[in-house]
Amino acid sequence: MELKDLKKVGPKTIELLNRLNIFTIEDLIFYYPYRYNIYKPVDLNNSDLIDTVTINAVIESIPKVSYIRKNLNKISFQVLTNNLLVNVSIFNRSFLKASLTVGKSITLIGKYDRKKNSFVANDLKFDWINQLKIEPVYHVVKGLKNNNLHSYIKEALNNIECVSDYVPDNLNEKYDFLNKMTALNYIHNSNDIKKIKQAKLKLVYEELFLFMLKINFLKKKNNELLGLARNFDEEKVNEFIDNLPFLLTIDQQKAVIDCLNDLRSKRRMNRLIQGDVGSGKTIVAIIAMYANSLSGYQNALMAPTEILAIQHYENIKKLMTPYDVNVALLVGSQKKNEHNEIIEKLDSGEIDIVVGTHALISEDVKFKNLGLVITDEQHRFGVNQRSNLQNKGIKPDIIYMSATPIPRTYALTIYNDMDTSIIKTKPSGRKSIKTFVKKESELKSVLQDIFEEVKKGHQVYVVAPAISDREDVNLWDVDTLKRNFDKVFQKKVPTAILHGKIKALEKEKIMQKFKEGEIKILIATTVIEVGVDVKNATTIVIFNAENYGLATLHQLRGRVGRNEIDSYCYLISNKEVDRLKVLEESNDGFYISEQDFLMRREGDLFGTKQSGDMVFKIADLRHDFKILLQAKKDSEKFLNTSEVNNLKYSKILESVTNLD
Ligand code: ADP
Ligand code: MG
Repeated sequence: MELKDLKKVGPKTIELLNRLNIFTIEDLIFYYPYRYNIYKPVDLNNSDLIDTVTINAVIESIPKVSYIRKNLNKISFQVLTNNLLVNVSIFNRSFLKASLTVGKSITLIGKYDRKKNSFVANDLKFDWINQLKIEPVYHVVKGLKNNNLHSYIKEALNNIECVSDYVPDNLNEKYDFLNKMTALNYIHNSNDIKKIKQAKLKLVYEELFLFMLKINFLKKKNNELLGLARNFDEEKVNEFIDNLPFLLTIDQQKAVIDCLNDLRSKRRMNRLIQGDVGSGKTIVAIIAMYANSLSGYQNALMAPTEILAIQHYENIKKLMTPYDVNVALLVGSQKKNEHNEIIEKLDSGEIDIVVGTHALISEDVKFKNLGLVITDEQHRFGVNQRSNLQNKGIKPDIIYMSATPIPRTYALTIYNDMDTSIIKTKPSGRKSIKTFVKKESELKSVLQDIFEEVKKGHQVYVVAPAISDREDVNLWDVDTLKRNFDKVFQKKVPTAILHGKIKALEKEKIMQKFKEGEIKILIATTVIEVGVDVKNATTIVIFNAENYGLATLHQLRGRVGRNEIDSYCYLISNKEVDRLKVLEESNDGFYISEQDFLMRREGDLFGTKQSGDMVFKIADLRHDFKILLQAKKDSEKFLNTSEVNNLKYSKILESVTNLD
């Protein structure tokens, strides 16, 4: 069966479904509701009247429609419910008039005002609800109604013959789980809360079991994989470290030792370096690259964006100047012949370190002897991509750098396939960033503070959630802020905007001008890279701060405080002030991420929404962590059984590892 075989589904609907990433009947049945509406009819005579209630009623009078003003009409009629005659009004549903005939049984959902004896309904159903009705609510797109989507899903469920259950039989038995098909039916279609919970438990467990199975499988494979035992002159590495313009912190030293040991070891390196923005992860990676090139192998460093790649490149190039190490940059915006030249030199082995975006490794780039790959901002990588960092059959050592500290227990689970080095100590002389939560009404004083900073020759980041002014959302946007700033500062302070819709080359130019100090205030959305390093920037102002998780805000403010001058962060918000105050009090990314966890804020656990690692269909790590731990144990055991060779598992595990 295909989507087009469903009743009332034509090309238009298929297009809408596609926009929800639904392409097949399977996609449809695995498209889960994100919440449920629960309707339970009450007796208005004795219900508490504050909340929205559901009532069963019979229409008693012919509905009247009144047009109040443009875009506002009201339909009013009387109903009888539990012997109570009540005046009902519904706004903007004048089209219902013809179907609301006297004597008809309907269900109304809305609020009752006993004094006025009036019921304002916001929803209505042409049937009585007996006892309890639970309606799944799905994320939809404009043009696709929840009800219709629900009916397509129901039809799909009725027509699908079987689905794979990835929970092994013995575990299904042990936990007394529903079978998969029953769980799917309940999750989409049940009036019993208990059944829905049972279904959810099964599906969550299955999802996390598979996730952990992949992680544990990767771990096992990595332990078996032989890498290159590197040989390098340690004296030379020490000399390089001694010549750095600063002393390494204790944690940096430890991380360097970890990496150098990994390089020497025959085992393949698969290491995660975790640490706050600005904690100095990059230099650790650079030292590892230097050692690797001393042993005769090439290095690739991949950043999530061109801006970051260029920044890394310039930094590394400077550091490598006194040494016999060739550094090159490879990005999409380069000229064709420049590009080709670098590709040739990578093939011939002339280049020792190449810096680029994540496209670097998947592109048609051939290395002579790639020994080490570094990826910046690891959290943007999903488990399915982790092992794809191989190039033409070469399986290099890998270092991941992540500026999203996550609590240790979580890290040990979801990054179980990697070894980790944690950098907690801050480079010396680093001051903490003074943070203030401010109401929008206090903006004036914030503007004054900004102006003072600019007068001192310092620079400022301004962050807003939207690009341009939109009617439908009440959020600060980059365009409006630029206009306001230019007005307030009478164009005496050069400002510029930066956001995801600006072309790469243009972005780079703006960033360059900001780095050089030509632009004083940079007004940007958060797509602007977390790792951008402009030492002279001392202030960051974040509008609608309530929109972001604490970890994200902490990462954002990490763009300032990059030298010994005092730095400031202003969180502008009229809401959730208590939550934001955590940032006033702490500068420790690990503590802050713990707080984020405790608050279990929707969708924002790991700094970025929908970050590669954490896209689950039904599980939610903030609530389902215990299940995750159980799934971890169970999947470890399962991996050692012969059942794992079963085709349905090997197919999945193959896709993770791509082993050739
Ligand atoms: P991260 O990648 O962890 O966000 P970076 O490696 O970009 O941090 O380091 C931020 C800045 O701090 C860089 O300019 C770097 O040169 C500098 N730095 C790194 N380690 C030290 C140190 N031990 N002492 C002083 N400055 C340091
Ligand atoms: Mg960095």
